Amino acid sequence: MRGKETHYCAFCSKEKSETRRLIGSNGVYICEECVLAAYNLIKKMEEKGDDKAELPTPQKIKEELDNFVISQEKAKKILSVSVYNHYRRIKSARNATKTEEDFVEIQKSNILLIGPTGVGKTLLARTLAKILKIPFTIFDATTLTESGYAGENVENIIAHLWEKASGDPEKASAGIVYIDEVDKLARKFVSNQRDISGEGVQQALLKMVEGTKVKIAGKNPKSRLLGKTTEIDTSNILFIAGGAFDGLKEIHEKRIRQRTLGFANLDNERKEQPRFSEISQDDLIEYGMIPEFVGRFPVIAPLRELTKNDMIRIIKEPRNAILKQFQKMFEMEGVSLTVTKSAIETIAEISVQIGSGARGLRTIFENILMETMYNLPDDKNARECIIDEETILKGMEPIILRRKQ
Ligand code: ADP
Repeated sequence: MRGKETHYCAFCSKEKSETRRLIGSNGVYICEECVLAAYNLIKKMEEKGDDKAELPTPQKIKEELDNFVISQEKAKKILSVSVYNHYRRIKSARNATKTEEDFVEIQKSNILLIGPTGVGKTLLARTLAKILKIPFTIFDATTLTESGYAGENVENIIAHLWEKASGDPEKASAGIVYIDEVDKLARKFVSNQRDISGEGVQQALLKMVEGTKVKIAGKNPKSRLLGKTTEIDTSNILFIAGGAFDGLKEIHEKRIRQRTLGFANLDNERKEQPRFSEISQDDLIEYGMIPEFVGRFPVIAPLRELTKNDMIRIIKEPRNAILKQFQKMFEMEGVSLTVTKSAIETIAEISVQIGSGARGLRTIFENILMETMYNLPDDKNARECIIDEETILKGMEPIILRRKQ
């Protein structure tokens, strides 16, 4: 026994009895509060370091996207350039010491991703935020209401982004907001009656996209009680909207046909052949998006349907590919998981037939492996599980190889 010797925190001089834990080594002590304070300080310093990090070039951004998103080359390129320009613009505005004359304001270019379901729209936006280490939030346009009295409203969305930015308003104001299913806001004409509900929501969204100052009530009850709010400026937030826009292709093709017809009527020796152009803003307006909204999303990135070959690659190649995930899970049970080449091809074919992009892949894998995952933890001698074509097509049990006893 060393008697009643009292120990103190070497940082704040708190006595042992004043703190929950006092950690010591070689006769020096630190209290729990000081450990936490030091930890938070280091975290903040690291975050500041991230802020200063070099902005990756469009090529670098695209290379990073390639690690997670298969195919969709065009969309990846368009996104890499637009995102680079967006953050380059913010950085230069922050460092600017310009005079009035040389001030050329570069407006931000929000991005519209157009493509069928499950082909990587959300994945692209999410991965971009991850690569650039910026806060990201996603919401479904159909949950928004015009008035904001019911369902989601603009404040909720920005509040969520602010939370993702660990309560740092400056970080939140340079984050990415992904608006899913934006095509569902198109105004519709039902038996010649114009349904304006979607149009109203488009208007409500416009303000946020154009740039407004959103007041957010603090999360902690005390600051709420005191009516304390944080203001977040949305002008530098990058908005990426995504939607399937079913029927847009037909609208576009009709427009091209009409234009070609117009050209055909011209009595001109050098008839200009309009080449097949990309989806234009006019097509989107005809689809039912309001012109102001379309004007705020000047960058249009098309995504295409995934082929069988894309599916095969998605199963195997991305950094967190579905096959790698299941293999890791099996490894934890001491079992190696092998899915034969023909089995992977069959799974890819099935998912193309289902028609919901790569979205269905996980469910297919879960269904195939469920029974095995149920049995394996109790099968102590199992060393390898083989899934072949028969397992998938005929619903046969996977082949389990066991260690000799
Ligand atoms: P959507 O186009 O409807 O937004 P998502 O991006 O949410 O589709 O895709 C659903 C899931 O399918 C993703 O989380 C991912 O696992 C997979 N996926 C879809 N497209 C791709 C792709 N091009 N590359 C890799 N995985 C993909």
